[in-house]
Amino acid sequence: MLKRFLPNEHVKTVFEITPEKLKQKGIKGIITDLDNTLVAWNQSDATPEIIEWFKVMKDAGIRVTIISNNNEERVSHFSKPLHIPFISKARKPLSKAFKKAQHAMELDKSEIVVVGDQLLTDVLGGNSSKFYTILVVPVVKTDGFITKFNRRIERAILNWFRKRGKITWED
Ligand SMILES: [Mg+2]
Repeated sequence: MLKRFLPNEHVKTVFEITPEKLKQKGIKGIITDLDNTLVAWNQSDATPEIIEWFKVMKDAGIRVTIISNNNEERVSHFSKPLHIPFISKARKPLSKAFKKAQHAMELDKSEIVVVGDQLLTDVLGGNSSKFYTILVVPVVKTDGFITKFNRRIERAILNWFRKRGKITWED
């Protein structure tokens, strides 16, 4: 049952996710988290590196949608200047926002990866909705209020996996 928290893949940053690697898997779209996945949770704007990452994806024909549990103001301020479709107050891990994003992207589930820094929202949500999931190391070690609580549970789950040899990476 904890299997639902196990990502298919683990990367240090989103920059390890490249169009070449995605295309090898037949992936044409990314549903990505925002806070601590693309930029620090308390940073309001995209960095030049993230802007470039979006451009590389766009040029390669990879569709990207941001889905975040954060509020409209935060998510639209970040996404709109980049012309990236977004869903705020997504209530991950619930499936609704994932479904909505998938339909808007007009892709099959098997053509989309879900990317995020949290097991309890991004990975659980992505796995439950049957997407391929990629866990990213959080951009910064600090978190917003609710996430702080989720991280405690997350650490316990990660330790459980680690003891059983299900994951090999370090924190
Ligand atoms: Mg996050």
